[in-house]
Amino acid sequence: MKKLSWFIFTFQFLFLVSGSAWLALDSIKEESLKTIKGSLQTVTNTTHEALYIWIKNRQSNIIDIAQDETFVLLTQQLLQANKDLPHDIESSDIAKTALQKLRHFMKKKMEAQQDIGFFIISTDKINIASMRDSNLYETNVIFQKRPLFFKRMFEGETLFIPPINSDVPLQVKSGEFVENLPTIFIGSPIYDHQQRIIALLTLRIDPSSDFSRVTQLGRIGESGETYAFDNKGMLLTNSRFEKQLKQIGLVTSQASSMLSFRVVDPGGNMLDGYIPKVKRSQLPLTFMADSAIKGESGFNVDGYRDYRGVPVFGSWVWDDSLGFGLATEIDVEEALVPNYKTRNILILAVFSIASVSLGGFIVWISLEKQANAKLKEAHAKLEGIVAERTKELQALSYQDGLTEIANRRKFDQSLDLEWHRAMRHKEDLSLILIDVDFFKPYNDNYGHIQGDKCLKEVAQLIEKTSLRMTDIVARYGGEEFVVLLPSTTLEQAKAFAEKCRKQIIEQNIEHNYTQIDSLNCVSISLGVSSMVPSVSDSPSSLIKQADLQLYLAKSNGRNRVE
Ligand code: GH3
Ligand code: MG
Ligand code: MG
Repeated sequence: MKKLSWFIFTFQFLFLVSGSAWLALDSIKEESLKTIKGSLQTVTNTTHEALYIWIKNRQSNIIDIAQDETFVLLTQQLLQANKDLPHDIESSDIAKTALQKLRHFMKKKMEAQQDIGFFIISTDKINIASMRDSNLYETNVIFQKRPLFFKRMFEGETLFIPPINSDVPLQVKSGEFVENLPTIFIGSPIYDHQQRIIALLTLRIDPSSDFSRVTQLGRIGESGETYAFDNKGMLLTNSRFEKQLKQIGLVTSQASSMLSFRVVDPGGNMLDGYIPKVKRSQLPLTFMADSAIKGESGFNVDGYRDYRGVPVFGSWVWDDSLGFGLATEIDVEEALVPNYKTRNILILAVFSIASVSLGGFIVWISLEKQANAKLKEAHAKLEGIVAERTKELQALSYQDGLTEIANRRKFDQSLDLEWHRAMRHKEDLSLILIDVDFFKPYNDNYGHIQGDKCLKEVAQLIEKTSLRMTDIVARYGGEEFVVLLPSTTLEQAKAFAEKCRKQIIEQNIEHNYTQIDSLNCVSISLGVSSMVPSVSDSPSSLIKQADLQLYLAKSNGRNRVE
């Protein structure tokens, strides 16, 4: 019962500890998710703000150029020349001169911003000026790739055109010219003096410059990244996972990740070897991209799959004026590392507490078992000792303290026992009552201590005189003794009594105050009785008889047997 309640207590204790640990874990996780959400939103908003400021700056810069008197004049000259002789720059000196002047003018402006090209685009979407001849008089690439942006610019807006694949080969760091590289434009309408839009000016921006640099500021931890995407879900910045993407075949080994794929959910973790069942173009947008493209800004700390299929937490914004969205995401696994660490520590703690208390319980049970065994052992020992002591005490209780022969108690029991035995066997039972003669004067003259010594001596002598094992010599009281003689006839008892009397005389214990003539030593008088016990008699009759005989012995002069 005690064990059971201890077990219940231990169990409850463990339950409580694990319960509170679980609650603590829960609240810790909630706290860390809040922190993660906060960090993701901060990074997204900061990046968005930085990009916004940068783009605003570039917009005001291009507006300045588009409104420059010289620039407007040269554009008008070019437009006029083109109207007269459409699409043949070689045949018009005016057009040639205007283009050269424009290129010269623009070169300086572009150098200041490290831009890599410009267009002047006529209302019929044709490039009428550019840094190189190769794309002159072609339909403009922005109109082809981002017609909406194109339309808005002709309606008067100065816009940032999110990355598109270039119409011309672009020079890379190594010096080579590579086809189809991503390219970014910023564009603004050109007005004449009547405030009519006569053409568009666009600047070609190096995508690896500020646009990428600013978004890459959002790389937190090992797996956190910020990236931009357009309204079709196309990735507009370089992914930080380019290596992984090349390994899983999402990006070809030469190309960069920018503009190379859409932000779709593969349906499983591709890094773990998952291969989507359908073509990437048929896959749904990721949870984030789907929400962002609807124009929503939001966050998710429940976890969703990113474009690699890896579970991530994310925060995102959609900016209509810029025409793209921004997302910051971090792998769930990395984000929850501090949480996992805390969890592991807590689990370890709970486990330790559990083992310690269970161990304690087991130790307690075994200790209790041991203690029980020891207790039983001690108990048994004690019982043995008690039995022994009882025996000793019993022995003592049958002995007379002074004379060390049997006491009255022992005699009474023996008489009863022997009486019935003799009755069963129809045998003689004899009894002798003995009284020391003139013992009062002995005491009075030799003192009580000497009296005690004398009594002991007399008792021991009588006992020694008895030869049979069955004989019982006992102190009857005071200076009186009794001898019970089983299977002994009257004659035999008398002989024994006489033997006792003689022994005492022969012992010659000095007694100068005895009133027996011619004697100056201790003597005894003895009364003998004997009978074959029957139902009509009782043991007391045997004693009465002996007492009577003793009285006779006394009155007949003492120191004699009757
Ligand atoms: P009698 O021959 O008639 O028996 O004379 P008596 O002096 O022995 O007379 P009585 O039996 O009346 O006296 C017994 C005396 O024995 C009285 C008491 O002083 C003494 N006595 C009895 N028990 C003890 C004892 O245990 N120790 C000692 N020292 N004396 C005892
Ligand atoms: Mg007496
Ligand atoms: Mg006496």
